[in-house]
Amino acid sequence: MTHQCAGITRSGERCTHTAKGPSGFCHLHDPDRAAERKRNASRAGKSSGTREITSIKAQLAEMVETVLGGVASTAPYAVANQILNTRLQAIELERKAREADELEARIEQLEQGPEARKGGQKMGDIVRDLAARIQKLEAQLGKTGRRSLPA
Ligand SMILES: [Zn+2]
Repeated sequence: MTHQCAGITRSGERCTHTAKGPSGFCHLHDPDRAAERKRNASRAGKSSGTREITSIKAQLAEMVETVLGGVASTAPYAVANQILNTRLQAIELERKAREADELEARIEQLEQGPEARKGGQKMGDIVRDLAARIQKLEAQLGKTGRRSLPA
């Protein structure tokens, strides 16, 4: 004999799954499994490359709440905000550096490739385009690097 799960879905409707075991809930709604589900969800979040940005966003949200809630001095938060901002710039810098490395590797590949040796006009255009993108990235890297220097 089976029972319908007593849980309520996110859309506010009664869960249509079959209840498992004595809890009266399906595996998604069983309160005894809530901790396990939370652990799994947090593990999934940690496996993503964006976990540092997620952590910074959480810290920023907390700071905004604290500052808006009224604190004696907002100075420590201003400093913390600068530090978080610098961390974000470092992440962006890292991403751009990786992109520049990839582009450089691609150029080398093209220059050494048989198509490039033939001296086709199209391949030359691609190489020039990639070189221009690297220059642009390097210019951006320089700018961001200077901005992140302490005032
Ligand atoms: Zn359910």
